[in-house]
Amino acid sequence: MIYLDNAATTMAMPEVLEAMAPYFTQAYANPSSVYSFAADNKKAIDDARHIIAESLNAADNEIFFTAGGTESDNWALIGAFEANSQKGSHIITTRIEHHAVLHTCEYLESRGAEITYLDVDEFGIIDINQLEAAIRPDTILVTVMYANNEIGTLQPIKEIGQITKKHGVIFHTDAVQAYAHLPIDVDDLNIDLLSASAHKLYGPKGIGFLYVRKRTKIANFVHGGAQEKGKRAGTENVPGIVGFGEAVRLAIPTREERAAKEVELRDYLIDSVLSRIEYSRLNGHKSQRLPNNANFSFQFIEGESMLLMLDIAGVCASSGSACTSGSLDPSHVLLAIGLAHETAHGSLRLTLNHTTTKEELDYVVGKLEEIIIKLRAMSPLYEDHLKRQKN
Ligand SMILES: *Cc1c(COP(=O)(O)O)cnc(C)c1O
Repeated sequence: MIYLDNAATTMAMPEVLEAMAPYFTQAYANPSSVYSFAADNKKAIDDARHIIAESLNAADNEIFFTAGGTESDNWALIGAFEANSQKGSHIITTRIEHHAVLHTCEYLESRGAEITYLDVDEFGIIDINQLEAAIRPDTILVTVMYANNEIGTLQPIKEIGQITKKHGVIFHTDAVQAYAHLPIDVDDLNIDLLSASAHKLYGPKGIGFLYVRKRTKIANFVHGGAQEKGKRAGTENVPGIVGFGEAVRLAIPTREERAAKEVELRDYLIDSVLSRIEYSRLNGHKSQRLPNNANFSFQFIEGESMLLMLDIAGVCASSGSACTSGSLDPSHVLLAIGLAHETAHGSLRLTLNHTTTKEELDYVVGKLEEIIIKLRAMSPLYEDHLKRQKN
C-alpha cells in the first residue's frame, strides 16, 4: 500500500505510542486526585503543555487541550462570539476554510452573527486589502486558516496579524495543517487563537489544543470540573496529551529537514504529473503551499472513479469532492478558486509524508497515467472533445 493521504491523517510514530502506553495501564490515576499516585500524570500533562507552548513561542498557561482540531475551531469561534457580544457580532472568514470553521460560522449565523466570507484568488490566497476594508467597529473576530487542507495554499498570516492588531480585532487561525510542519511564532505573527491537532503530525487522534493569548476574551467551552482552568472541563486525555507532546518533541527538531525533503518530492511529483498527463492542472500556488501537498485536476475525469481505481492499485488518495462520503457536491475550495464543476470533480489530492520515496511516486504517476487513459476512453465528454478537435 502507498499512503498519500497525509492531510487526512498520519500514522502515529512508534515512539509516540511507546510514550503513551504507560498512561493506560500504569500511571492511570485521574490527574485531579490528591494522592501521590496521580502526581506523575499531572507532571506528564505539564511537560507536554510546555513542549507545545515552546514550539509556538507561547506561555504554558496559554495552551488548552481539546479533543482535536474541530473542537478547537468550534471553541475559538463560539467562545469569541459569546464573550464579545458587547462589542458586536461581525466575524470575517474566507470561503475556503475547513468545515469545522465554515459550519460553525453557519451555526453562529443562526445565533445572530453576521459573517463576511472573503473571496480568494485563483491560487486560493485572500486579498489583504479586502480583509482590511471588511473590518467594522463591530467586528469581533477574523478567522483565516494558516494552510488549506485541500490545495495546500498558505495565507499571508503575518500581514493578517498586523491588520487585526492595528484594529484591535481577535485573530484566530486554523493551523491544523501547518503546525509542526511550518515555523509558527504566535508573537511574531500576532495570532490570538490557534487550533492544532495531533493526528496531522504523527500523533494520536482525538487530541488537539487551542492556543489562547493572554487577555483574549473567549468564553469557557466545556462546562464541568476545573480541568484546563475550567475553560474546557473533563478528565484529561492523559495518554493523548502525552502522545501529542511526544509527537511535537520529535517533529520540531526535524521539521526543516522533513519539509525540504517533502518539497523536493512534491515538486518532482507535480512536474511528473503535469508533463506526463494531458489536460491536467495544478490547483493551488506553485510555491506558497504546504511542503507535502499536491492537488491536480484532470479534465474529462470523474474523481471518484479515479480514486477507486487507485485504491485497486494500492494507492490511498483523496479527491476534490466533499470529504463527507456520499456527497457529490464538488469541493467548496476548488469552486472558490474558480474551477468549473466538471473540472473540480476530476480532482486528486496527494499528500506526502517523511517516508515517501521517489520510487513510490513513480509507481503512482505510472498508475495514474494508465487510469486516466482508461477513464477518458469511456468518457463521452472526452470523445466530444476529440471530435471537436478534428473538425
Ligand atoms: C483535519 C483538520 C481539521 C479537523 O481536525 P480534527 O482533529 O480531525 O478534528 C480542522 N482543520 C483543518 C485545516 C484540518 O486539516
